[in-house]
Amino acid sequence: MTKSSKIPRRILLGPGPSDVHDRVLRAMSRPVIGHLDPEFLQIMDQTQGMLREAFATTNPVTFPISGTGSAGMEAAIVNMVEPGDRVVVGVAGFFAQRLAEQAERNGAEVVRVEADWGTSIDPERIAAAIQEGDTKIVALVHVETSTGVLQQLYDVVQAAHAAGAMVIVDAVASLGGHPVDVDARGIDVCYSGSQKCLSAPPGLAPITFSEAAVARVKQRRTPVRSWYLDVSLLTKYWGGDRTYHHTAPISSVYALHEALRIVNAEGADERAARHRRHHQALVTGLEAMGLKMVVEDPQRRAWTLNAVRVPDGVDDAEVRSFLLRRHGIEIAGGLGPLAGKIWRIGLMGESATRNNVLLLLGALELAMKLQGHQHTPGAGVGAAVEAYAG
Ligand SMILES: *Cc1c(COP(=O)(O)O)cnc(C)c1O
Repeated sequence: MTKSSKIPRRILLGPGPSDVHDRVLRAMSRPVIGHLDPEFLQIMDQTQGMLREAFATTNPVTFPISGTGSAGMEAAIVNMVEPGDRVVVGVAGFFAQRLAEQAERNGAEVVRVEADWGTSIDPERIAAAIQEGDTKIVALVHVETSTGVLQQLYDVVQAAHAAGAMVIVDAVASLGGHPVDVDARGIDVCYSGSQKCLSAPPGLAPITFSEAAVARVKQRRTPVRSWYLDVSLLTKYWGGDRTYHHTAPISSVYALHEALRIVNAEGADERAARHRRHHQALVTGLEAMGLKMVVEDPQRRAWTLNAVRVPDGVDDAEVRSFLLRRHGIEIAGGLGPLAGKIWRIGLMGESATRNNVLLLLGALELAMKLQGHQHTPGAGVGAAVEAYAG
């Protein structure tokens, strides 16, 4: 018989998954019941209600896709895009590239509005690209997890709607951390992931479709190319006459349900303020150690994902491995062109705490000191202490 292996507790300060509350882990161990059991239907209804609150929307079509954030992305694209559609995608990072690739796989004529990784995309450039043709869909990443950029959305949504186009927003790394405000911003389709700022385990992708987006899906000339992700079929189970489509991942839904109770009990404003406070303390500490943030404009920095440059003479992988082995802390390296050049420090959901910020700064100082990096020990922690005390 295979021996069971003991999994250590970690402090998850990467780009997800984030720390999961014990209440959520306990919820997952509740009895598995049928996906049409009246008790489970009640959990589904409540989960949908709490997702509407988290997205700040009244959209009836709001539910979790069975799959990770990437499945949410694919669901948004495959339902909204038809072959030949002109799709404008703002691309300044790894996840936006995936959005563009998925639109291409669905036969779209994709127009990429690109910006350097680590910068946001000027809404006026996106607006100009929208107006240059018969644009059907605009797709944007709210928090680009590969760079730590927070993208402006509002002006882009206005420009898209003025041109008769609809907007898809990737809120995988923002929902539950930054305000997403689907209805106030007029976002047509928005998706997220359970394991980032909502702090549930990976495996579900919350998604919401506006009534206009649902109408667009209904008017498609061609069937949705994915049967599994077809929103018209899925909503017959999530809200319609409960027609079986696929077996809901019961335990994962329990977990998301419990995680959303925690998210909504904290309140949107409180939760955003908490993410902002810990982000600012962390950045103050990192800068006091002489480190440079990837995103230069403080206004465009995500609170949930902090990208910082690896200083000269310091080995990226050595530091990450030291943090994991000696302190049980996970942070991440860079993706694509930023591999080996940056660290990505997530402060998402349950992971966004003062304890974690102070511990990480101290542990990072030690890791860098051992590599001969010159800084005054305590500089980072001291600056964060000042930020919290001030
Ligand atoms: C993590 C992430 C995804 C992909 O989510 P998975 O759960 O890894 O499939 C997509 N977009 C953004 C912005 C992300 O941070």
